[in-house]
Amino acid sequence: MVHQSFHPIVSAGHLEVICGPMFSGKTEELIRRLRRTQIARQHVLIFKPAIDDRYAKDDIVSHSSQQLPSIPVTQSHEILATVEASDRRVEVVGIDEVQFFDDAILNVCNQLANQGIRVVVAGLDLDYLGRPFGIMPQLLAIAESVTKVLAICMACGASASRSQRVTVNLAEGDSGQQVCVGAAEKYEARCRQCFVPELDTPSTIPEAVV
Ligand code: ADP
Ligand code: MG
Ligand code: ZN
Repeated sequence: MVHQSFHPIVSAGHLEVICGPMFSGKTEELIRRLRRTQIARQHVLIFKPAIDDRYAKDDIVSHSSQQLPSIPVTQSHEILATVEASDRRVEVVGIDEVQFFDDAILNVCNQLANQGIRVVVAGLDLDYLGRPFGIMPQLLAIAESVTKVLAICMACGASASRSQRVTVNLAEGDSGQQVCVGAAEKYEARCRQCFVPELDTPSTIPEAVV
């Protein structure tokens, strides 16, 4: 079986989307693809929304602590401007947390791909209510390659496609198995059956602390 989504075979400018719930490995997969292009000495520019400064201001960071330097931007048109201002021809553009950008990100990705650039983006396909997230459905529709990654459900161990918002705010440094340390709101990966729209209690909190 050929996993085309993990090895996109299109060579000219195109758009690859990596989507899934929180903790599913979107950023890991984005970093994996971008590192390979850097090793091959392609000119890569990596962007993230400036509002996502949970783990680092300038880096894209995975929950498994992999990271790559990136350029934080506030609005999507800054991505085009930065690519155009580059003194070397840009071959690859990577964008993490793409769902946080304004709607113009669709046009930005299209324009970059039309210029012959390989555009690799990662983002949440669903919000915490289980609804399609912002511009993601349109991005998925225009992409040449779509990779949907899954996490593991913290409640039952099945494959998880949903991001569950949970009620308890643990103090930073007292995170137990929770991995979203330092974020204002806490989430965990859940499967369709265990997903409760809106709020639920965390499934990872121990019954009693000894
Ligand atoms: P995403 O960008 O999709 O939020 P990351 O790439 O940042 O995901 O992190 C993926 C990593 O998160 C996994 O390799 C694993 O170390 C960790 N992780 C934490 N919770 C889970 C879970 N419920 N299922 C799978 N991986 C998890
Ligand atoms: Mg991520
Ligand atoms: Zn489950």
